[in-house]
Amino acid sequence: MKKGKLIGFAAMVAAAAAVIAFSGSFHTRLNKSEKEKNVQEAVAEVEPEKEKQADIVIIGAGGAGMTAAVEAVQKGATNLVVLEKMPITGGNTVRATGGLNAAETPYQAAEGIEDSIELFVEDTMKGGKNLNDPELVQVMAEQSGEAVAWVNEIGGDLSVVGQFGGASVKRIHRPSDTSAVGPMLVKALNAKLKELEVPVFLETEAVHILLDEKGAVQGVQAVTKGGEPYTISCKAVILATGGFGANSEMVVRYKKELDGFFTTNHLGATGDGIAMMEELKAGFADMDQIQTHPTVNPDTTTMYTEGVRGNGAILVNQTGHRFVNELETRDIVSEAILNQEGGTCFIVFDQSVRESLSAIESYIEKGIITQGNTPEELAEAIGVDKDQLKKTLEQYAVFQSEGIDAEFGRESMEVPMNKPPYYAGLCAPAVHHTMGGVKIDTDSQVLKEDGSKIPGLFAAGEVVGGVHGANRLGGNAVTDIVVFGRLAGSRAYDYVMEDGGFTEATMNLAQEEEAVEPEVKGNYKDGTYTGTGKGNNGDITVEVLVESGSVTAVNLTDHAETPGIYEAAEKAVIASVIKTQTVSVDGVSGATRTSDGIKEAIAAALEKAK
Ligand code: ADP
Repeated sequence: MKKGKLIGFAAMVAAAAAVIAFSGSFHTRLNKSEKEKNVQEAVAEVEPEKEKQADIVIIGAGGAGMTAAVEAVQKGATNLVVLEKMPITGGNTVRATGGLNAAETPYQAAEGIEDSIELFVEDTMKGGKNLNDPELVQVMAEQSGEAVAWVNEIGGDLSVVGQFGGASVKRIHRPSDTSAVGPMLVKALNAKLKELEVPVFLETEAVHILLDEKGAVQGVQAVTKGGEPYTISCKAVILATGGFGANSEMVVRYKKELDGFFTTNHLGATGDGIAMMEELKAGFADMDQIQTHPTVNPDTTTMYTEGVRGNGAILVNQTGHRFVNELETRDIVSEAILNQEGGTCFIVFDQSVRESLSAIESYIEKGIITQGNTPEELAEAIGVDKDQLKKTLEQYAVFQSEGIDAEFGRESMEVPMNKPPYYAGLCAPAVHHTMGGVKIDTDSQVLKEDGSKIPGLFAAGEVVGGVHGANRLGGNAVTDIVVFGRLAGSRAYDYVMEDGGFTEATMNLAQEEEAVEPEVKGNYKDGTYTGTGKGNNGDITVEVLVESGSVTAVNLTDHAETPGIYEAAEKAVIASVIKTQTVSVDGVSGATRTSDGIKEAIAAALEKAK
């Protein structure tokens, strides 16, 4: 994983230094208006030494942005850059655990699953309470099969079909090793972008999209980690900044009932794209439609993927009773959980479910699953009435064998859930997906309030509203980002071709800091892990990325260390950890406690990756 930042602009930096009092990255928590003021002052006072130029600027390196970049380059785009405000790519996409919903695929055919575009549209509209934009849903369903093929073509793996909530048939396509879809997809996209030599500028935050006097896109204003503001002039922009689930202020602004809810989202899901679109008077759809995921562990905010229920698990309340059809849509299941005592419940499953899904191993490693050799033993361990839990499981086995859930009408009951040992995890709903967002047409082209187009502006992914209506079905987020990411990349390419064509790339990663590569191979499980350590001024939290067994990036997500001291520690300690794949590395003199805190946080994260 490369760690890049733009350097240069000497004159601009010198002049800007006086007015910029922030790091520009998420490390320093300035509120939006302070940040905005700084950027505007800086931009007003500083004439960039040299303006940057690209034909397409993609904002956001999550699933949608990276897909758009790959598609545009595959079509022939030559001068395209991706801006990502976080130190790593992947956004919320890397957290996606389920899979990609697609209809009429060869994988379904091979299993004799009868599905159709119409049925996919019907399920999605029903799940979204018909609030969805039917034209966007139609596009998503029609292009879903191609999306699966495309992901596999770029080196991904979606070949196993499973059942998910709200789908009438088995439709969710997942990796063959039953692992989570997000890390697989992000890894494949990262590798493809590297192969295609697409420059991805990390820790570079887009702040404004600039329009010319005719209202067409002409550039992007961005800020680097070092606080350097600059402008990239361009012909087209693809907005792929994701949702706003991690911006509690924005969440509450649109849905006040969610005040105090925790979230499953990554720190960068702050709705920057929404703010940029408000400036341009873009149209919005369904902003108040915010989805909670029903089964999230409240202590760690880890989400138990819907696949656990899809593969057989049930939900029981504190008295040991089932209380809902576990495969109902997320809004219904969330609501049902909130109506139980304490607003929580337990997800309960047996050994056969555990064996069916490798994601479960990560929950066990995180210590958020309790085990018992018998239903009674499990009940006792989680403080639930043991006779009742035993009865609930026995009754469920009868329903399963008869194929009829007489209590809640659950249709898919994969296993009788009677193979010991038994497992349970505490769960409650948390803010998960923001369905609302900017309006687009079926070409991924952004629309204004009056329905007219903003020429040169395209959007894809969670920043877009209208695809999922009032409730997103599990597996439809990944379909959304791949289908509309490709569409945005393709249409932005067409737009540039009509506008004089592509130019030679002038922005590249040659200015990037040398990437740190592991010198030895690590022995960790792939994924993103969080850990906390004690620094000089308080807790330091890191996100550690493990790819192909080795630590490839460490991202300091939160700390209160002294600026200047932490940067030195960050740079040296993280580079040594990546090189040696251990935390037994030297600290930085003058920043010993910060170094120790970073090491402790990385060690805590890697504990989970063993
Ligand atoms: P999607 O699923 O729609 O692709 P993700 O959450 O996976 O959404 O990715 C969105 C990405 O956009 C994240 O990596 C996030 O950090 C990035 N991002 C958000 N706001 C900005 C911004 N202002 N500038 C650059 N990148 C941004």
